[in-house]
Amino acid sequence: MFSKTSEALVQRRARDRGTGFQPVLHGQEAHATRGFAKASSSRFLPLLLAAAFSVSARGAPAPLRVVTTIPDLAAIAAAVGGQAVTVTSIAQGHENPHFLQARPTYIVQARDADLWIRAGAELEVGWEPIVLDQARNRRIQPGQPGFLDGSAHVPVLREVPEGPVSRAQGDVHPSGNPHYLLDPLNARAIARAIGARLAALRPEQAAQFEAGADAFVRELDRRLFGADALAAAPGDALAAQLEAGTLDDWAARQNVTLDGWWAELAPWRGRQLVTFHKSFTYFTQRFGLEVASELEPVPGVPPGPAHLARVMQRMQDEQIGLILMEPFYPRKPADFVAARTAARVAVVSSYAPDTQPEAYFRLIEAIIAAIKGP
Ligand SMILES: [Zn+2]
Repeated sequence: MFSKTSEALVQRRARDRGTGFQPVLHGQEAHATRGFAKASSSRFLPLLLAAAFSVSARGAPAPLRVVTTIPDLAAIAAAVGGQAVTVTSIAQGHENPHFLQARPTYIVQARDADLWIRAGAELEVGWEPIVLDQARNRRIQPGQPGFLDGSAHVPVLREVPEGPVSRAQGDVHPSGNPHYLLDPLNARAIARAIGARLAALRPEQAAQFEAGADAFVRELDRRLFGADALAAAPGDALAAQLEAGTLDDWAARQNVTLDGWWAELAPWRGRQLVTFHKSFTYFTQRFGLEVASELEPVPGVPPGPAHLARVMQRMQDEQIGLILMEPFYPRKPADFVAARTAARVAVVSSYAPDTQPEAYFRLIEAIIAAIKGP
């Protein structure tokens, strides 16, 4: 009886966790199993077994362990999952995930994960394959339910330059631009994708994850559009107006006052800036600003004098007064250009500062503050 039950449990657990065979029953679970097996009739066994495997010793389900490649994804997962998840990020907000090196601590993080979330579009291509391979965790391998690629859930900008460009030439965006989370509409989509995946991994908490995603989106909408707009129309309708480029017209027709991030950047719409890396494109496109040029000639390739001369010429011709850059890029080329163009250099990360549930909002607010300046 017991051995047959154990086998059923192992299979059930493997199904629940979306993985292959998982032969080890740990003490608490094995003990609970034995008790249930004795007490129950076969008719109710599946229900009881499901309970035995999702409920920890304290009676609450053990949190799902989520590991993300970048802190923005971790912050969104923390907001969506709440108490039902623990979340860590491999890259920290002050680090450049394009150029991380695989480390033993990353492998340890990946080894125990129930869900691995990456930005994708080759952002992590330099280190993720090593980490996933060395972690030997079947649940989070590509194609498994415990592996979520955010880039599959948003429209990724291709931005493919003319002529032959490849990773060999230093281009770190050969599969499109991976910095899509700086568009708040993409963050909405990612929150819902994370909620759906958590629900698939832990169906008994599906309602909780759906509510978590809804709450994140609602708070994002409030900060993006303002309370007045949200009182007049559902967030999805406002997002559709923003997407279509008709939000201001809609607000004027409805006599609604737009507030929040959208209103805060209104004076900047139509204005140009220069960035170090091609990382703020989604942000500027969404809010109606324009990146005229990058200090990097190709994403991932350091600036050279000839390219900087062209950038400076354009900045002078078009009176561009702002260079936006992350703290992990060298300051010297930006200062060189700024000194000759009277531009202001604003330093802000394009990644969330930490993995707290509201850190994504702080990221967007920090970028807005950097653009607006002192
Ligand atoms: Zn990049």
